[in-house]
Amino acid sequence: MDYDVVIAGGSVAGLLCAREIAAKNHKVLVIEEDYEIGTPEHCGGVVSIPAMDDLGVIPMRATLDNKIRSATIVAPSGKSFTLDARPQQVIVLDRREFDKQIAHQAQVNGAEIRVKSSLREITKDGVRTSDGEIKCKVVVDARGVSSLIHKDRTGTLQSAQYEVFADWIDKERIEVHLDQEKYPGFFAWVIPTRRDEAKIGVAGRGINPALVIEEFLKKKGKHSTIRKIFAPIWIKGPIKEFVTGNVITIGDAAGQAKPTTAGGIYSSGLGGILAGRSISKFLDSGKESSLSEYQKKWTGKFGKEFEHMLLARSLLERLDNKSIDSIFDSITPKILDEISKEGSFDFHTTSVAKILGVRGSVKAVQAILGNELRRLLN
Ligand SMILES: Cc1cc2nc3c(=O)[nH]c(=O)nc-3n(C[C@H](O)[C@H](O)[C@H](O)COP(=O)(O)OP(=O)(O)OC[C@H]3O[C@@H](n4cnc5c(N)ncnc54)[C@H](O)[C@@H]3O)c2cc1C
Repeated sequence: MDYDVVIAGGSVAGLLCAREIAAKNHKVLVIEEDYEIGTPEHCGGVVSIPAMDDLGVIPMRATLDNKIRSATIVAPSGKSFTLDARPQQVIVLDRREFDKQIAHQAQVNGAEIRVKSSLREITKDGVRTSDGEIKCKVVVDARGVSSLIHKDRTGTLQSAQYEVFADWIDKERIEVHLDQEKYPGFFAWVIPTRRDEAKIGVAGRGINPALVIEEFLKKKGKHSTIRKIFAPIWIKGPIKEFVTGNVITIGDAAGQAKPTTAGGIYSSGLGGILAGRSISKFLDSGKESSLSEYQKKWTGKFGKEFEHMLLARSLLERLDNKSIDSIFDSITPKILDEISKEGSFDFHTTSVAKILGVRGSVKAVQAILGNELRRLLN
């Protein structure tokens, strides 16, 4: 046997999984098809400090781009509300550096990482890679959304995210713009990374993201674009089986990104950690039941919340611009205060339910959403 475990994909899920396996003195190799860990970056980097604590990573100076004070949500009519983000301790990571930081943690524990090496095929006793055959006991698929796309195209939306310099960027405020005509089923976002610099993105069902983002930026004002990325995001929630024999699927490859926002640093990263611990247990005990503990633990932590997120998504997808505008008209300062103080960045469906459940002029919305809204509220 060349390795106990080979992990395909050297990003947050794969590297955290490797860190855990190596910590228990098992021989683990991470193969990453790109030339460099963390590059090309395809992430907004927004995460909460409590989530980072759970992932066991204290951001270093190079890793932490920014701290967020508030988030403004804008309706199609232009009406907006602003939430205080400070109680939820939201930060913006530099994913190029963050991924290198966790690669270093994995390496210090004893893992081996190879870049420019890609998984071609899973064989009966290991993997075939661009560098040849490797024998191992367990294979981990951490290849991100690329692993899912060919299985189910209906769960992905196309996104574009540009890095932009502009003097209209508020350094401490995230913006989310809802508009079902421009970004059906999703939104446009502005994530400030430092003074006069932000990651600006759009995603939506059936849109041409390159055209839509240009339109968004034109409306915002004078700017320079210094980087462009186009990437699919997965919004259909977890796949059915994380564990099939000795092949373990983790992170975005297992559909572990939030169905509402496609954020996955925390839920996909924790998928990697939980899988790593179960794999180590399996390697120590030889008991296959240890492997399936991973799915149980991930589902115990995120299952209910992801079900609610899927429900929230299906409700939001059915609202038109008029209904969204009417919801915004009904939001009171009391609701905003409650969400700011009690809401959670990582488990946010209670806040979504509060907004959708506002009384008064949204009777029409409640008529459209009916029973599903009641399920979300309960
Ligand atoms: C535009 C955009 C913005 C986002 N913003 C946020 C955000 O603000 N906050 C947040 O929490 N999440 C965000 N996400 C989601 C977040 O980036 C992912 O959830 C997270 O990176 C998932 O990590 P992962 O390790 O599962 O997969 P990935 O990060 O996708 O990594 C998969 C890795 O596998 C490698 N790979 C693929 N195929 C092979 C192969 N055959 N062999 C070897 N290696 C292979 C890839 O090169 C890649 O490095 C965003 C995503 C997008 C697209």
